[in-house]
Amino acid sequence: MSKKNIALDRLLTIQNHISNQPQQTGPIDLARERENASFNVKHMNWLFWGSKEFAEALQDAFLIIQRDPELHFSGGHPFDLTRPEEREATMKQIFRYIQLKKSLKDPLLFKALGVAMGMYSESFNMKVYVNDYLMAQSFKLFGTTEQYDAYINDIVNWKIIGCFAMTELGHSSFLRGLETTATYDRETDEFIIHSPTLTATKIWIGMAGQTATHTIAICQTIIDGKKCGTNWFIVQLRDQKTGKLMPGVTAGDVGAKYGRNGIDNGWIQFSHVRIPRTNMMMKWSKVDKGGEYIPSAFPAVSYSVLIGERLSVLSGAISTCGQVLTIACRYGCVRRQGANEEQIMDYQSHYVRLMPCVASTYVISVITRMIINKWEGIMKLAQTSQEEFISYLPDIHAISSGLKAAISWWGCEVLERVRRSMGGYAYSSYNGIGGAIGDWGVVTTGKLSGGDNFVLIQQSAKYLLGSFKQVSHGKKVTGSVEFLNDIQQIRSSTKSILSDERQLLNLDFTLDMYTWLCCKKVDVLAASLDSSTEGEETTWNENQVDLIKLGELYSYRFTLSEYIKGIKECSTNNEFKELIPILTKLGSLWAIHLINDSLYLFLEEEYFSKEQVKMIKKCYLKLCKEIRKECIPLVDSWGFSDFMLKAPLGKYDGDVYTAYLDTLKAAPNCMGIPDYWEKYVKNF
Ligand SMILES: Cc1cc2nc3c(=O)[nH]c(=O)nc-3n(C[C@H](O)[C@H](O)[C@H](O)COP(=O)(O)OP(=O)(O)OC[C@H]3O[C@@H](n4cnc5c(N)ncnc54)[C@H](O)[C@@H]3O)c2cc1C
Repeated sequence: MSKKNIALDRLLTIQNHISNQPQQTGPIDLARERENASFNVKHMNWLFWGSKEFAEALQDAFLIIQRDPELHFSGGHPFDLTRPEEREATMKQIFRYIQLKKSLKDPLLFKALGVAMGMYSESFNMKVYVNDYLMAQSFKLFGTTEQYDAYINDIVNWKIIGCFAMTELGHSSFLRGLETTATYDRETDEFIIHSPTLTATKIWIGMAGQTATHTIAICQTIIDGKKCGTNWFIVQLRDQKTGKLMPGVTAGDVGAKYGRNGIDNGWIQFSHVRIPRTNMMMKWSKVDKGGEYIPSAFPAVSYSVLIGERLSVLSGAISTCGQVLTIACRYGCVRRQGANEEQIMDYQSHYVRLMPCVASTYVISVITRMIINKWEGIMKLAQTSQEEFISYLPDIHAISSGLKAAISWWGCEVLERVRRSMGGYAYSSYNGIGGAIGDWGVVTTGKLSGGDNFVLIQQSAKYLLGSFKQVSHGKKVTGSVEFLNDIQQIRSSTKSILSDERQLLNLDFTLDMYTWLCCKKVDVLAASLDSSTEGEETTWNENQVDLIKLGELYSYRFTLSEYIKGIKECSTNNEFKELIPILTKLGSLWAIHLINDSLYLFLEEEYFSKEQVKMIKKCYLKLCKEIRKECIPLVDSWGFSDFMLKAPLGKYDGDVYTAYLDTLKAAPNCMGIPDYWEKYVKNF
């Protein structure tokens, strides 16, 4: 502790002795915690957000939001807004954001503003994402150059507000079952878009409830009475000036949701809506004027737009987990309990719950940048070399599906651990945790995050099994499954060589252990699937629980292998080089958490002895304790300002009780006689 803090500490103790009004210890506690940093917090902040420039732009963006009344929620605490108020506030924010797009000359600052606004409001995030990413990307990936050129300016300037209509009342994950039809009328050279049944109603569609003027809808294409496949069609929903529904379109709002109430998710029914043939997205499949259907040579491309969405879930995890963990760690270090008034963060059960979450947030941030850069590189190929673009799709599809599922499920776990770590205070909306839980849940399911986790993770497992088959036939595989090439060597090692706890701190060593498990499980599952005498679908279903686990193992293995590459890259950067020891420790904790979490799978194969299991547990607890010492500098490094966190208990200065009570006092109707007193209470 510095001399200044020792003096302050003493002063506080004396003051508390002579006064019956004890002073808040929070500020001293957090100041003391901050002295534990073994690394430069500023440099860590740059690394966490990818670069000094972006990290600084983000801080500027936080300030812009705080200062601009059009961008932040005004007129009360955001958690007290009603649904209509939240809707209006979100639209106001987008209106301002688009104005700023024209006036802010610095593209990096504008990018940071978009990211910061997404952190500030998930509803803003989702609305902007649907139009600026999903709609715009769909034109890029599925549209012809003419279609892209005709629409893109209006989309990015919000003259057209677009939505993405895939899900139907009766079907979503099973896309072949979709019922909305697009029937070609050769005479008028038009498609007729129709919802033939109740279950064909498009549902949950973001912005279809009140604001979208256009949609791209996936429909069964019908020519001469024959189904030719599913394709995307541009359909106008509302008049751009009046907001009135177009003829043949019926649409409404899905009403109350338990999160993201600022976005108007809605339902749509089409009644014989006519659109020009050229409104079919025709980059891959085509229908000519004579009604000839030219199918896509690569049908899987239709869903490639979802890859970017899946990866965006990782960015969401950094922001959501980062914010709630900042709140929980600061509160955990300020809150005191027990005979000696310990900080609750010093309870073993407390820090062991939270520290793996802190470590994982660092891992996710490093790998997210790497994988998004990779996807952006692949997407460029869609414009220049379609064959090459297609060749990269299976691997990136498997990575994005698996990561999206594994990390969004882990995000739910982080949120729940945080909620339980804050006692009753997590139940107060003003501390942000309940809102974050409500907003996050949909990410494990929704199309806007790339689809349902249970469905997605099986696609990763399928890819892994397919790659394994290739290796079994003597072929080499590349990309995220390259490790399978060593399957023979892995088969021959049946017991772990772990003999000293220190080995567990070596990231390559723990990666090898996890790789072993992944290979072993794919080997066992492939044999089980092959030996089945049942049909393919039944066999798959009978093994589904193991297949889902396999998908998770593959995805988590990928987080580790990429993280190791990521921190190796840090050694080439002067400012980041000194962060390697703490980054390695965080990576080790994540690796041991993964191994610890899968111990039953290792034990099923008798890979570890009893002594080795004890060693893993001991090391896990020890690492959690070590990271706990630096938890405040570690969460400070993420740089979320108090304004962005919106949670009095997560305040930077530690003066949390004053801030919390002030918030309660500012809540509507917090004091005074309620209106219903006269009507009921008085008359008992
Ligand atoms: C807030 C929100 C916003 C949304 N925005 C949009 C949007 O803008 N556009 C859009 O098109 N859609 C949107 N959706 C819809 C979303 O994409 C679907 O809810 C999602 O795809 C899941 O489909 P479903 O609800 O029909 O569930 P189903 O597909 O019926 O699945 C139900 C459950 O069954 C299980 N299950 C299903 N299939 C399998 C399987 N093969 N193996 C194992 N288990 C399985 C899973 O547990 C799953 O959760 C949104 C949803 C929400 C909640």
